[in-house]
Formats: sequence, structure tokens, C-alpha cells
Amino acid sequence: MNKILIYLILIVFTGSSLAEELLIVHTNDFHGHIAEQKDYAGAARIAAFVQELRANHPLVLFVDAGDAITGTPVSSLFEGEPIFDVMNAMGYDVGLLGNHEFDYGADKITRFREIAKFPLLGATAFDSQGQVLSDSPFIIIERGTLKIGIIGILTDTTPLLITPHGNKNLTFKSPAEVLKQLIPAIRPKVDFLMVLSHTGFTEDIALAKQFQEIDLFVGGHSHTFNKHPVNTGRNRVVQADHYGRHLGLVKINIDPERGLMEFTGDLLAADELPQPDANVLSLVESYESQVRDRVDTPIWKTDKRLSEEELQPILERILARYVNADLGFYNSGGIRDNIEAGIITIRKLWNIEPFGNTLVTLSMTGADYLVLLSQEPKLHHSAATIEPEKRYTIATSNFIAAHAIKAFGSSIQVQERDVLIRDVLIEHITKYGL
Ligand SMILES: [Zn+2]
Repeated sequence: MNKILIYLILIVFTGSSLAEELLIVHTNDFHGHIAEQKDYAGAARIAAFVQELRANHPLVLFVDAGDAITGTPVSSLFEGEPIFDVMNAMGYDVGLLGNHEFDYGADKITRFREIAKFPLLGATAFDSQGQVLSDSPFIIIERGTLKIGIIGILTDTTPLLITPHGNKNLTFKSPAEVLKQLIPAIRPKVDFLMVLSHTGFTEDIALAKQFQEIDLFVGGHSHTFNKHPVNTGRNRVVQADHYGRHLGLVKINIDPERGLMEFTGDLLAADELPQPDANVLSLVESYESQVRDRVDTPIWKTDKRLSEEELQPILERILARYVNADLGFYNSGGIRDNIEAGIITIRKLWNIEPFGNTLVTLSMTGADYLVLLSQEPKLHHSAATIEPEKRYTIATSNFIAAHAIKAFGSSIQVQERDVLIRDVLIEHITKYGL
């Protein structure tokens, strides 16, 4: 018997007859991984699981906590649009804007909202007119006799994470401030109040402790594998890894008379999910078949697995060499996949560099460069060798350049190279390997 059936039987036999039992299936940071791939479930197996659950249980809610797009060729080539189409077929009830939904500028979010048949929430992001950029800050959904409130928040560090292109004059309010305003209006109307959050795991735990009126935080952004719900007082925090490598399932028994009774939750690995749903699979295939010829071409072979961290200096060297710069700089968050031992295909480079960033050379002092490096989550490997008084040319992305211009103004010089970083990497690795 598979694990899901056992889980369902346990639910049937342990569920209290008085309480309503709500099952929440959650994903986050799916990043365009609609096709099944080693370790990643793909859209069709996730959809099959949700269908099986809905067939056996009346109260199922299927939600996503943001960053659905960007991370695979099928997402990047069609600017994220197929992902929302596939999510419709998967049967999502609610989604959330993450920082990557801004990858093609705020106007594109209007397009995503048109495609998605489920509401895309976001209470903290506003356009230049002060209008909320999402479908709604929150919704109230009825399931059985339960009224469920869902508020959507995304991190107010978003301006630092997104391309300035198409994203000028946006406002991101503090999630805590927004929750403070919304909770008194929504809490009295609902039996269960949850937050879909794209702020990161640590931030969610702090917010959950602060806002005990909220029952559950379903999070994303930090790509955290968090096996069971974290107890933060009378509420809980969950997050389900990333790229569909795990699927989150939370079971809550709610007694509207006496308040919450029970929380359990788990992450299911891709190989624990049922066989793919045929309809979703054929929709995924219709998109993937359009990119396959372009990307499933082998360009090199390696006998060594390289983590994102190990790739950083290698990719930096490739960028520097391409434009004869002193140094290359690749921000660690910009490397979106590792390299497994074996054949390297063009697809892999799309997965590593899905953004479509272009190559730029910066000329700046070592002192300024050290400030830039200090914004990295970990000490950059080159930091110790940088001389503050010396001037360096640094090959990097237009994304980093835009943030550097904001921080250092005219003390740095920028030269656009009008070539995609992804293409530079593909060309180099095809010719010279890693
Ligand atoms: Zn994110």
C-alpha cells in the first residue's frame, strides 16, 4: 500500500467527528519545474496527488506560496506564462506573488493574473499609483461549514531582489505593518486564518510568534526543507522545500466552538507521489516539446558533481575571461542549480542561469567592491585578496550592475556588453569545458 493511502486511512480513523478536518496541500518556489526531473515531482504527479486527496476528503485546499516562475527553459522562453496555465490544470485554489513574479516587470503581473484562474494574492506590493499589484490582499474561502481567511504577503526586501527594469516606483510595505492592519478586519469573520508568505522561513517564524491570531503560516522564498510544522505558540509555520522536490501536506482539525484542536504536517518526497495525471502531463508536454530541441543538446561531460557554491568561482572566471576583466562576480543567489556528474546539456545552463541577464563590466574601487561583496550571504572567496585603493574591472550581470549603480552612483563606470550571460557560459563550456 502506498504511503498516501496509509495517510488517508490514518486521517479517517483519527479524525474527531465533532471537528472539521481541513487538509492543506502546499508548494512554494516551484520555479518553473513543471516537467518531472530527477528528484523533482513535476506538475502532473503533484496534480495526481491532489486529485486523489480531493476524491477522498471533502475539505482540501491547494495553495502556492510564490516564485512559481523562472528556473527552467520552458519558463524563461515563454516569460513565465506556461507555468500559470499548468497551475490552472493542477487545480490550485490560491497562489501568491513572490519576488520572481516581477522578473519581467510589474506590467507582466497583470498578464499572469489574467492567465491564472485562481487568485494571486499579495497585500504588501503596490504600483506607482498606490494600487495593490495582486488580485487581492486576502480572500475568504468556504470549505464545508468552515470559513477560511488567507492573507498574502511578500518580503519588503523585494526591491533589492528584482530587476529595476519595469519595476520603477513600486512600494513594498512591511509585512508586519500590513498584518497589523488586516487581522482585526478578517479574524472575526473566519474560523481559520492563514498567511501565504513569501518572506522566508526565519521571518515567518518571527511573524508567527508576533501574530498569534493567525493560525498557520505557509511560507516560501528561503527554499526551506522543513519536514514538520514548527510550533510557534498556538500557531504553526510550514514550508515545502523548492522546485517540487517535496510537497507539503498539513492536516488541521478545527472545532469552531473551541478553537483549534490539532495540527499535523509532513513533506512528501517526489517519489512518494502517485503516477502523473494524464491531462496535466500532456499540457506540460505541449510546452516542453517546444523547448526540447533548443536545450537538450549535450555540450560537455564531467565526472564531478559541482554544487552552486563550487560553481561560483568557475562561472566568475568564465565571465572575466570573456571580456578580459580583472575579476568576475556572480552573486550566490544568481546560481539557480548545481551540476551533476555526467553529461552537461544546454538545458542545465538554462537552469543555472534562467534570468536572461546580460553581461556588464563595472569599473570600481576595491573599497566599493568590498561593500558589494559584504551584501553576499556568505564571505565571498575573493574578499581577502581585494585591495581597497586599487581600481578593478569586474564582469558581472546587469542585475548586479543596476544595484551597484543605486548604491555607488557615479563613482563606478558601467559598460554594457549586450550578450546574455547564459550564452557566454554555453559558448565557453562547449569550447573549453568547465
Ligand atoms: Zn523568492
